[in-house]
Amino acid sequence: MTNIAFIGLGNMGGPMAGNLVKAGHNVSAFDLVQASKDAAAELGVGIAGSAKEAVADAEIVVTMLPAGKHVLSVWADILPAVKPGTLLIDSSTIDVESARKAHALAEEHGCLSLDAPVSGGTGGAKAATLTFMVGGSAKAFDKGEPVLTKMGRKIVHCGGAGNGQAAKICNNMVLGISMIGVCEAFVLAEKLGLSHQALFDVASTSSGQCWSLTTYCPVPGPVPTSPANNEYKPGFASALMLKDLKLSQEAAQAAGASTPLGAAAAQLFGLHNAWGEGGADFSGIINLLRGRGTA
Ligand code: NAD
Repeated sequence: MTNIAFIGLGNMGGPMAGNLVKAGHNVSAFDLVQASKDAAAELGVGIAGSAKEAVADAEIVVTMLPAGKHVLSVWADILPAVKPGTLLIDSSTIDVESARKAHALAEEHGCLSLDAPVSGGTGGAKAATLTFMVGGSAKAFDKGEPVLTKMGRKIVHCGGAGNGQAAKICNNMVLGISMIGVCEAFVLAEKLGLSHQALFDVASTSSGQCWSLTTYCPVPGPVPTSPANNEYKPGFASALMLKDLKLSQEAAQAAGASTPLGAAAAQLFGLHNAWGEGGADFSGIINLLRGRGTA
């Protein structure tokens, strides 16, 4: 049994903390919102009066927060209160620069650190089937991996500080671009009188095959479990896809990488969100390409 502190008990953090309790760990947690604390307490998570109080006896601290500024402010707050040698793991999706700053802060306080963003969404958080993309030293990874396996199914060490976030935004840039490509193909097929099923049967076994088509098909029918069959309820919300695409564009600009399709995808998901569809599944962008809203 490990003493773990968990800060940020939202849609992802609450069930992740619950899985650590289920695995037999002692979890002391904090969130700013009472409803999140209540929901986590029902899963057996111990609730502390503040983030500092939550980390007092922790060997490992996990944060699951909205953005880089929240992570940097929480880490700056708690680091003076943790014991040297404590491992801090941030599983939020944040910009690479803030992730690297957070690692530097931890090092200044004699602590180990990992950036460990996830894919798999709220379903994966509940079922403990998340994929963790991890950046940090081998020593920190060796200490963190046994705990991450209690919340996820696949744990990939991507290299040094910030490389977990780098892997996450590169993957989601591919996903955003590929989903738009698949949607465009279905919209063109509709105009040409080609059925959804016929296009699916050909492309899913041809060179157009990809996850956005075969697992997450953006039209109802061919893949019965995809959000298109459920009025584009998420799934993975368009607002979160836009967040990740913006992070990829910030990183591309800072690193001097040319990502013209990533930039176009960010613009299109920006439009989808401006249409009021940020809460819909990201595959609902097919309706923007058709020139009409989800409803
Ligand atoms: P959420 O908004 O539901 O939860 C964030 C929680 O952090 C909230 O409960 C909020 O009260 C808390 N918080 C904010 N500032 C705090 C502070 N200073 N101290 C303590 N608590 C604080 O968000 P979420 O959906 O759980 O996502 C968390 C992170 O995971 C985000 O970075 C998101 O991009 C990423 N992510 C989300 C999904 C998803 O499907 N929801 C999937 C992959 C990654």
